Amino acid sequence: MRSCLIAGNWKMNGSLQSAIELIEGIRQGDRGQAQLAVCPPAVYLMKIGGMLSDSDIALGAQNVCDQEAGAYTGEVSAGMLRECGCRYVIVGHSERRSLYGESDQLVAARFAMAIAAGLTPILCVGETLQEREQEITEKVVARQLDAVLESSAIGDFAKAVIAYEPVWAIGTGKVATPEQAQAVHAFIRGKLAEADDGIAQQLQILYGGSMNPSNAAELLAQTDIDGGLIGGASLKAQDFLAIAQSI
Ligand code: PEP
Repeated sequence: MRSCLIAGNWKMNGSLQSAIELIEGIRQGDRGQAQLAVCPPAVYLMKIGGMLSDSDIALGAQNVCDQEAGAYTGEVSAGMLRECGCRYVIVGHSERRSLYGESDQLVAARFAMAIAAGLTPILCVGETLQEREQEITEKVVARQLDAVLESSAIGDFAKAVIAYEPVWAIGTGKVATPEQAQAVHAFIRGKLAEADDGIAQQLQILYGGSMNPSNAAELLAQTDIDGGLIGGASLKAQDFLAIAQSI
C-alpha cells in the first residue's frame, strides 16, 4: 500500500515573515493522515528547516546542482541542502525546463546527484498543451523518464518520487480531469514496471497542476495518484491542509 504525500512548492513567493507565518499555520492545523512536505525558496530553507526540526513535516528544496561543489555561481549543492535538513528536492520542474532551459540530460544529472547525497528527488515530468493536442503526451513523458533511466539505475526509483505535472495545468486553473491524470500515472507506472515491477508498484506518483481543495479529493481517489505537488494552493495554510484532509 502506497502512502500519500502532499508537497507544497512555494516557488519564489513571499518573504521571510510570510514563510514563517505559513509554516506556523501548517504546523498548527489538522492535516489528516497525509505525509506533508514543503519546498520553500532556498534562502529560507535553513530557517524553515529549524522550525520543522521537531515535526514530521518534511523539508524539500526546489532544485539541486548537478555538481558536487566548485565554481557554479548561483547553484546550491545536494550537500548544502542536506545541511539545511532537506529530505526532498524537486528536479525537472517545468518552469526550470522551459524558463531556464534545463534539458532532460541536465535534469537526469540533478536527479542522480540528489540520490547520491541521500535526498529524495521529486522528478517532474509532463507535456505542454501543444504536445497534448498532438497526442504525444506518452512519448514526451517516456522521453523524460528515459533520460533519467539512462543515467540512473531503476533501483534509484525506489528512493525517488515522480510528479506528473501537465504543463498546461500549472498555475493556469485548468486542472487535468481525474481520468486524464490517472491515464498518464498508469502509463508512468507501467513504463517503470517494465524495468522493475516491484519498484513501480511502490513508487509514489504525485499529480501537480492547479490542484486545490475543491478538486483534490477526486484526483487523489484515482488508483495511481499517490498525492499532490501543489503550487498556488500551498501558499495558504488552510488550502494546503484542506487538500491533505481530502485524502
Ligand atoms: C507546480 O508548480 O508544481 C504546481 C503544481 O503549481 P500550481 O498548483 O499552482 O498549478
